[in-house]
Amino acid sequence: MSSRRRFLKEAALLAGGTFIASSSVGNFFIPKKKKVIIIGAGFAGLSAGYELYKRNIDFEIIECRKEVGGRVFSHTIDEKEKLIIELGAEWVGEDHTLLRSLCNQFNLPLDNNQFKTQVIYKNNYYQSLDEIITPQWSETYDKLISGYQKLNEAQKDTLGKKLDKIDWWRYLVNNGCKGVDLDLRELIDSTDFGESIRNVSAYSALDEYAKSSKNSMNEMDYKIRGGNQQLAFKFKSLFSDKIKLNTRVKKVVQGNKVHVHCEGGYIAQGDKLICTAPTFAVKKIDWQPALPSSMAYAIDALQYARINKNAFEFNSRFWKDESFDMITDTSGHYFYHATKNQKSEKGVLISYTIGDKAAVVANQTEKWRAEMVQQSLQAAFPNVNSMLENQVNYYWGNNELSMGAYAMYGKGQWFDLFPKLNAPHIHTHFAGEHLSENWQGFMEGALETGKQAAHKI
Ligand SMILES: Cc1cc2nc3c(=O)[nH]c(=O)nc-3n(C[C@H](O)[C@H](O)[C@H](O)COP(=O)(O)OP(=O)(O)OC[C@H]3O[C@@H](n4cnc5c(N)ncnc54)[C@H](O)[C@@H]3O)c2cc1C
Repeated sequence: MSSRRRFLKEAALLAGGTFIASSSVGNFFIPKKKKVIIIGAGFAGLSAGYELYKRNIDFEIIECRKEVGGRVFSHTIDEKEKLIIELGAEWVGEDHTLLRSLCNQFNLPLDNNQFKTQVIYKNNYYQSLDEIITPQWSETYDKLISGYQKLNEAQKDTLGKKLDKIDWWRYLVNNGCKGVDLDLRELIDSTDFGESIRNVSAYSALDEYAKSSKNSMNEMDYKIRGGNQQLAFKFKSLFSDKIKLNTRVKKVVQGNKVHVHCEGGYIAQGDKLICTAPTFAVKKIDWQPALPSSMAYAIDALQYARINKNAFEFNSRFWKDESFDMITDTSGHYFYHATKNQKSEKGVLISYTIGDKAAVVANQTEKWRAEMVQQSLQAAFPNVNSMLENQVNYYWGNNELSMGAYAMYGKGQWFDLFPKLNAPHIHTHFAGEHLSENWQGFMEGALETGKQAAHKI
């Protein structure tokens, strides 16, 4: 059990007290035939719905998008070739047990989606990371991770509170990481957090990396055949009559009951509410009574990572290896084969950029991006442009609901903001990836928090 988990237990105990007290205002018993309103049909909302469905508790999911899935967003880039890519969540992790067991229950096959990383660094091409990372640093890094894994819960807590005050970059530097090793850690780890590791809590990073088991490649292990959004469609097929799409929640009024007012005049009424919207969208809702000031502060303080996914479809898989990915110090940053296991002569590479780089790439023309991919891969593959057929770009930094891909807890924020965001508000529980103590930023985290919220009802 990680210290992040234990920490939540403590927070939940505190929060639980508040919930019982506040939900009992004018409401001394929980009605037998209660109804739960859920805001959002992403993985957290659908997971909450699934739990209530199994327990035969009435519920209604209100979703502003025209389809279920939220930030799990599969896109058919080539209808004729049936090539499907992910513009949102990409990898299912080996250790994501809830997600994997749901795939199993719904007969959704998981395909291997692990990669063998190549590198372009200072205009030189390396066929593996081992060719460039120094053995000394590899050894030190392994020791840091295994040392943390061996700590008991109390030791992890004490260390965690210290490490939360510094960033991951500083932690690495303090432990002797320098030169090419430091440059590569910045390039690789920043793709996990979606911003420079100079902005990421050292505790969040260390705890996350230490959690991955030996069989996992940093939780970049599988993908759902046919696209990750298939899981959302499976949930929908069970209870489509409970999901109201194209309906945006504007106001929540909580008294004896919860009244959820939507654009277009629709009002849903329930006894409890589970809100799974990302924090930017939570703030846009008119809460009556208002959200506690501590939560409002936490919403303002929490940032979401800027990620841009630029998919390039080529008429040939010139990278040869189906498990191809490449970390570069060029504008394209990280490239990976996005159509692994999908039969076709054609194939897609996604350029995955983060932070300022993502914001720059997002604002350019297709022509600029085509030149960028050519330049970025030049040292390994000259003239890729002659094979380029099509491209699609999606920038999460401007997504109107989240203004980012997923939450990024910065220095000093985990222990400060997490309990504030996780506290219930009268009849409302909050859920979503940003509130997962185990798998924050992952599909697993969204599913886990949705399930937990449903069990609190
Ligand atoms: C680029 C990118 C890469 C990622 N990579 C991975 C990965 O490799 N592996 C992994 O496990 N995870 C990954 N993730 C993270 C994963 O997608 C999320 O953790 C997860 O999908 C979040 O689910 P959620 O239910 O918490 O939120 P969401 O999916 O955002 O669901 C919230 C829902 O609420 C709806 N909503 C919001 N406001 C309102 C309103 N006012 N009224 C009605 N509806 C509303 C939204 O439309 C949305 O559907 C990635 C995400 C992105 C964006």
